[in-house]
Amino acid sequence: MSEPYAELIGRVKEVATLGSCGAVLGWDERTFMPAAAASTRADQMAILAKLGHEMFTHPRVGDLIVSLDSTRLDEGPAASVREIRRAHDRAVKVPKELVEELARVTSQAQGIWQEAKAKNNFALFRPWLEQIVRLKRREIDCVGYADSPYDALLDEYEPGACAAELKGLFAELAAGLAPLAAQIVGRATPADESLFKREFPVAAQERLSRDIATAVGFDFNAGRLDSTAHPFCTGIGPGDCRILTRYNPHRPLESFFGTLHEAGHGLYEQGLPAEHYGTPLGTAASFGIHESQSRLWENQIGRCRAFWDGYFPKFRAAFAPALDDVSPSQFWSLANKVRPSLIRIDADEVTYNLHIILRFELELALLTGEVAVADLPVTWNERFQKLFGLTVPDDARGCLQDIHWSFGGFGYFPTYTLGNLYAAQFMEAAERHLPGLWDAVRRGDFSNLTLWLRNNIHRHGQRYRPAELCQRITGRPLSPKPFLDYLRSKFLNGAV
Ligand code: ZN
Repeated sequence: MSEPYAELIGRVKEVATLGSCGAVLGWDERTFMPAAAASTRADQMAILAKLGHEMFTHPRVGDLIVSLDSTRLDEGPAASVREIRRAHDRAVKVPKELVEELARVTSQAQGIWQEAKAKNNFALFRPWLEQIVRLKRREIDCVGYADSPYDALLDEYEPGACAAELKGLFAELAAGLAPLAAQIVGRATPADESLFKREFPVAAQERLSRDIATAVGFDFNAGRLDSTAHPFCTGIGPGDCRILTRYNPHRPLESFFGTLHEAGHGLYEQGLPAEHYGTPLGTAASFGIHESQSRLWENQIGRCRAFWDGYFPKFRAAFAPALDDVSPSQFWSLANKVRPSLIRIDADEVTYNLHIILRFELELALLTGEVAVADLPVTWNERFQKLFGLTVPDDARGCLQDIHWSFGGFGYFPTYTLGNLYAAQFMEAAERHLPGLWDAVRRGDFSNLTLWLRNNIHRHGQRYRPAELCQRITGRPLSPKPFLDYLRSKFLNGAV
């Protein structure tokens, strides 16, 4: 290892270690922290963010990057320098004052959003959202872009992606989804949801959550599972990955799929090479690739017939006698109900992506000024009606439903749909490479799939950009086709 490269890696590892302290505080904030500690915690987080930004934008880091000629480095270090350069270029372009103002405004706006949603009062949130949109436009001006202003923000979540590419992908996806959704809804016999009035003790749900997380390979020696209002996964560092789910005594599938989703994220974090911790080679490729791992386990595996054929007896026994009169196939139908609905996080696999397409289009329109924040509720409701054929009854169930804009997360939503598309395309490849995959899933043996994901995705970190990773694994660029094929064969042709 050359001396400048070693020094650069040493410096970025320190920034990452500081960031991991923030991750522990963030986990604590969303689990066990007393409410009265909120402002103390905000100060702690702000000082860590400021120190991290100072360390990363230190002139020495810039000098080291300039001094390193990528063409003379091996593939791994060259990829590392490429990604450090990308993040550093961006960090130095955004002035410290803007970073601090965004942190301050979005930290307050999240509380205001929560209140506005609870009171169904958009007017309360409106001035804050206007301020955030203004600040994000300033950030875009600082960062710069070649084609769409959206690209400047998207790059932070999905390196290398651009709005033009998303528009193409999403248009193709929407064109396929609309008729498919109508066909599936028309065909389905309504699942009997009355059994969700029965009792499903939380202790039994907890046991099943731990069981399924262990079964897919989540290492509890290097991780934890806890509960929270809004489930998430945080990879704090090697040997420490925390996943969270939520328990409702009437909705056992909510905690089960929540755990499986977060365990998918957790497996990715636990599969990153520990020796590269804190550097791009030890960091997930992108938000979209991360989401592909959670959705692959939650939907492609957790909601498939083979899985429930094998797992249902265990599930039924855990809650006996609540499910004694239910068959695996009835239960599969309940886990796969398709119906257009108002709330994104409750949406089924088929209509979910329409929620994302709506948000992506509105984000573009807000950032370019085509839609003013004041007109957001009306525009949201009109477009929602067109896409879903549903009337939005109030803003709490309309444009106020998601937290993302209050923390300034413009550019984040598309990564959910990218995750779904990547998951389907990766599974197609996994099926080709793993004969007997569905028999193994039926037996509850997930080890070969976990190993395949580890070897093909997790261990690479950011060695390859998402587009290149997809090409290497599947032999093709990302396309909506595998996802649409998957939905068709699952919901219309009764495949696994
Ligand atoms: Zn996720």
